[in-house]
Amino acid sequence: MPLFGRWLGSGLAKVALRAIDRLKRKEDLTADEEYAVERLCSWLARVQGADPLLDEALDDAQREFLLSYRLPAPEADTPGGGRRSIARTAPRQYILPARSGARTPRGSCGSAADLAAAGGEPSRHSSEEGEALLGTNDPEVERMLRALEDWEAFDVFRLAELTDGRPLQTVALGLLRRRGLLARLCLPEDRLRNFLADVEEAYHPGNPYHNSTHAADVVQALGAMLAADSFSRQLSDLEQLAVILAAAVHDVGHPGVNNDFLIRTQSEAAVAYNDQSINENMHGAAAFKLLAKKENNFLSRFSEEDYRFVRRLIIRIILATDMARHTDGLEDFAASLRLWGPDLGAWTPDKRTAALQLVVHAADISNPARPLPLCRRWGQKVHDELFAQGDKEAALGLAVSFICDRRRASVPQSQLTFVEYVVKPCFSTLGELAPNFVAKNHTDCIL
Ligand SMILES: [Zn+2]
Repeated sequence: MPLFGRWLGSGLAKVALRAIDRLKRKEDLTADEEYAVERLCSWLARVQGADPLLDEALDDAQREFLLSYRLPAPEADTPGGGRRSIARTAPRQYILPARSGARTPRGSCGSAADLAAAGGEPSRHSSEEGEALLGTNDPEVERMLRALEDWEAFDVFRLAELTDGRPLQTVALGLLRRRGLLARLCLPEDRLRNFLADVEEAYHPGNPYHNSTHAADVVQALGAMLAADSFSRQLSDLEQLAVILAAAVHDVGHPGVNNDFLIRTQSEAAVAYNDQSINENMHGAAAFKLLAKKENNFLSRFSEEDYRFVRRLIIRIILATDMARHTDGLEDFAASLRLWGPDLGAWTPDKRTAALQLVVHAADISNPARPLPLCRRWGQKVHDELFAQGDKEAALGLAVSFICDRRRASVPQSQLTFVEYVVKPCFSTLGELAPNFVAKNHTDCIL
């Protein structure tokens, strides 16, 4: 299996072949088998299932099976029914029921009264307005959504339990409603819900860390930042929409391994993106592919100019979540801050992007600033995923990255280093833009 093995790694290639037989027998896959099959499906998609060299590895029955697995027939009763992720065969579920009359009719955008009821100015919204807009039937979910902007009280793990592992669509839709963006931007809620459900499904539930609970956590962290400080009043509705969507999709489809691993294994994605912010480029592309589905495209009525603005902003924010861009991002923001001060109203639109990138990046790495029980839980999950990558590296005969080596790395020490060199500088800088958030939420324990 020269090509197949070179692309997938000989160890993973063997795992994938074993997994295909297990899939055909309808047996559950281990995390490694799931990962290997996904890589194989991805490769087949790239070569469109027709690479003669794959004949050395796959017989006709295996290839046929994988192709049919990759492209199941759409289901008539499932909006957006198309490709399903591995080991995610349950029908898509919607956590938040549609509000009565929530569907936005083509060509209309609701009355002025609707707009006012939906939140008005973001800075003036109250928790009561938010509650009235949520419309969930589960009282505990409803209680949690009332705390959607509360940094200390919100427990995303509990929400994940209550929503059967689908907290992201609940948090993202809740925040968009709470800030009145559905009404003011005339977003068709049915399509938005389809999109968020597809995004949630595209997150890999087998990843210990980079799953939809992490994405929901980042969206909620962002919501807490937007609520705490006046900078959010300087943001346009399109900027608010972009920043919330970017947070929701920023890790979609994450393979559970980092960019370095993808480069070292000469993965398909590394080739496609020339070793540059591989995962982040992939997340952006995956998000916009899901948005392009007709039943998901809640931005289809935007003007070309507005759509291009939102798309560009989302992409730039996602790319800035690459840790390799951490220092450049902070310096870019600090340079604008020195030039124009903390009032974003004085910043040029292009430079405001640096502020939005900083906010989402800070939310993305904010676990150590959470209350200690949540902080510890997240820290363990991060390392569970890193150690799983280390196991893959060892299985492939690669040198195991130090931080991924479960025999050598120390979780507390790694976390302390992360706080000292990454989180602390980021939150210190964030304090210039969001002083209330940084002070009020006891993030000073890391500063
Ligand atoms: Zn992330």
